[in-house]
Amino acid sequence: MTFRAPKGTDDILPPASRTWRRLLLMWEDWAARYGYDLVLLPFFETTEVFARGVGESTEVVQKQMYTFEDKGGRSLTLRPEGTASVVRAFLETGADGILKAAYSGAMFRYERPQAGRRRQFYQVGVEYLGSRAAAADAEVIELGYRYLTDAGVPGLSVLVNSIGDRVCRPAYLEVLKEYLKERRAVLCDDSLTRLESNPMRVLDCKVCAPRLSDAPSPVDHLCMECATHYDEVRAALRDMDVPYEEAPRLVRGLDYYERTAFEYVATDLETAQNAVGGGGRYDGLAELLGGKPVPGVGFALGLDRMVLTLFEVEELEPLDVYIVVAGDRRGDGAKLASNLRYEGIRTDLDVEGRSVKAQFRAADRRGAATALVVGDEWDDGRVVVKDLATGRQEVILKEEVAAWTRRT
Ligand code: AMP
Repeated sequence: MTFRAPKGTDDILPPASRTWRRLLLMWEDWAARYGYDLVLLPFFETTEVFARGVGESTEVVQKQMYTFEDKGGRSLTLRPEGTASVVRAFLETGADGILKAAYSGAMFRYERPQAGRRRQFYQVGVEYLGSRAAAADAEVIELGYRYLTDAGVPGLSVLVNSIGDRVCRPAYLEVLKEYLKERRAVLCDDSLTRLESNPMRVLDCKVCAPRLSDAPSPVDHLCMECATHYDEVRAALRDMDVPYEEAPRLVRGLDYYERTAFEYVATDLETAQNAVGGGGRYDGLAELLGGKPVPGVGFALGLDRMVLTLFEVEELEPLDVYIVVAGDRRGDGAKLASNLRYEGIRTDLDVEGRSVKAQFRAADRRGAATALVVGDEWDDGRVVVKDLATGRQEVILKEEVAAWTRRT
């Protein structure tokens, strides 16, 4: 019997994994440039954290969670997203003030798998906790935009909206409910059940949304404070030259989301899966998790979908040096490899006793810049170096190898 990876999961192997590595390294760099520090959080949490923190009425909680009981009888859930855990962790520290957190890693949702919709998928994200300022929203949106652009995601759009707050949203929801009731006939079953309990989520429904393009928008019902906040977010984005489109029906259908909602869309991807990331302000979340009020804004980007847009030519990670060992010089070759690796030079060599010709072929295949031939010259403290791009070859002292390699 042979095994296959579980449905909806992927093995990301070389050379494809190079693209992932590049995106993750780039992510660390961009998050750090904006002052976000790495957080490493559990891959599973008490189920209640997500039930409350993602929302009981969401599809994620109702249908997609990997929930299990551990041997101690606790109900635990593999994380379907990152935000609830970051807020939970922040509350647990008891700290006040600001936390700018960056994370990356696998998330788990029981989905119907297809391209760009996986059961295990990877997200990178940030959470800016402790500030209500519009400048925090704008900073977060800008960071996602700069990173996605630098990563090379083509056809990128930034969609923004404001969905109001506890003051102005109730009146909007009444207007929305009236509108939806008149359109019962075109709503799917899920939306019909949400019409009363959570009408804004109906605008989020992939099936119904296209039929509701003239629905009332929350932006037309914002209170003064929310309208000012939204104006400030947009003004800051313009100041920072972040192109955005207003998307008046973009919503986050959960009570703890307030004001800013945004999405990054890669127009080149198939419509159903074209959101490469999304985020928003969630000032009510900390209280829902039983803590003191902590305002927050953040986003998560999907690496799987980013990779789908890139079409990179994938080759193995290139080496600096491939050591070609002649005859019975394997021990000498291994010693040289050890020294070079210690010096920080990417080095590999054959361990199977293959012919010199086969070793040169391997050097080419691995994209090595230089081949070092360990032969009889070794006894005089020398090796042959060959620049594999130009074919230039010379004999140098062993001690000069690291410097020579760096020079080419
Ligand atoms: P969400 O947490 O649902 O707002 O998702 C944020 C981003 O994560 C989305 O825009 C996608 O890029 C990615 N994402 C969410 N769910 C999946 C999934 N099942 N498979 C792959 N990527 C996903």
